[in-house]
Amino acid sequence: MRCPFCQTQDTRVIDSRLASEGDQVRRRRECVGCGERFTTYESAELVMPRVVKRDGTRVQFDELRLRTGMMRALEKRPVATEAVEAALNRIRQRIQALGDGEVAASTIGEWVMEELRELDQVAYVRFASVYRSFQDVSAFREVIEGLEDPDAPRMNNGERS
Ligand SMILES: [Zn+2]
Repeated sequence: MRCPFCQTQDTRVIDSRLASEGDQVRRRRECVGCGERFTTYESAELVMPRVVKRDGTRVQFDELRLRTGMMRALEKRPVATEAVEAALNRIRQRIQALGDGEVAASTIGEWVMEELRELDQVAYVRFASVYRSFQDVSAFREVIEGLEDPDAPRMNNGERS
């Protein structure tokens, strides 16, 4: 890291701490040349994987779409905005953790359902009914039965694997 005062290449870190809720590292540096101190902020580059849709097309990850879909399911439900934001953050982090590869849209859909299931069961059923476009009554029953038994294995109708 070049010193902004004298352009010396050699600076040393004298303090390092997390900033902005852990998304950034704030470093206090001291120039070995002139002794001036300055601060740098480091954050992970946000490279989102591309989303592979059911028909095989690839699109850029669209956070607004994700948010809109969740909000629609949560409409008029007694769920705090904070809780929704936290859920969105967790989904975003899971996607980011994949790096710059690709992620199936159906995988994101499953993650959204996992979060909604925790947040609000009505929202969960709403989202699942649209998302899975329940082709028959048994698929719907599976979701409802899954709600009644929290330890039940995640339903999987196998069509998206
Ligand atoms: Zn310097």
